[in-house]
This record gives sequence, C-alpha cells and structure tokens, in this order.
Amino acid sequence: MNPHGVGLRREHVTAMRAHVAREAPREACGLVAGRDGWSVHVYPIPNVAAHPEQRYRMDPTAQWRAFRDMDARGWDLLAIYHSHPCGYPYPSSIDVAEAAYPVVYLIWAPVGSTWVVRGYRLDGGRVRPVPIRWE
Ligand SMILES: [Zn+2]
Repeated sequence: MNPHGVGLRREHVTAMRAHVAREAPREACGLVAGRDGWSVHVYPIPNVAAHPEQRYRMDPTAQWRAFRDMDARGWDLLAIYHSHPCGYPYPSSIDVAEAAYPVVYLIWAPVGSTWVVRGYRLDGGRVRPVPIRWE
C-alpha cells in the first residue's frame, strides 16, 4: 500500500471523469486497479441501484468479471469510485456504513463546470481523507 495515499495517472482520472459526467444525474461507480500504489486500469461498472440518482450498487456480474481480470493480470484493487452528481465529494453515511473494502474510496462531484475527486478510507466506520497523488 502506498503510504502517501493513492496514485492516479492522468489517463485514469480522465476516464473516470468522462464516466461520471456521462452518467449524471445518475451516480456512476467503478473500480480502479493498481500496482505499487498507482492506478493501472479503470473498470466502469453499471449502477444497478433501484434509485441510481441517490445510490449506487455495482452490477455483481460486472464486478466479479473486473475482479477476475485484475487477478489474472496480477493487479490489486486500488480504489472504488462513485459520484455524487447533485452533492459533494464527501462520503454519505450510507457510503460509510456500506464500505466493505479496506481500499481508497474516490468520490466525484461537480464543482462549477468540472468534476472534482477526493479520496477517503472508510474502514471501521470512520472517514479519513487520503491524499491523492497525480501523474
Ligand atoms: Zn456516495
């Protein structure tokens, strides 16, 4: 694990931003694979929540395929991302309650005409901001 936070390469930030913008006003979600603390691939996952404007639930089959692909390539799960199209880049109480993985949670939200992303660790029911490094 990268002690300085999570490292995101420009192409992966661009891919996530395009995905969250495309899905708005529905929440978008996906997985970021990594190696040595840096992103190597983004997997957009369909949001199958009953009310995708308010929640996200990853399509289980697509999620399973992404995990299997990461395993096959020797990658780790680096981060889980989703968007708050009508909110802030801060985890909701539901996000904290449902955080199931000890990885970085990236949350995207619109600010003006662009989208910003923030990183958090949510294990143990606590919200801890995590620095994002860019490349
Ligand atoms: Zn959320």
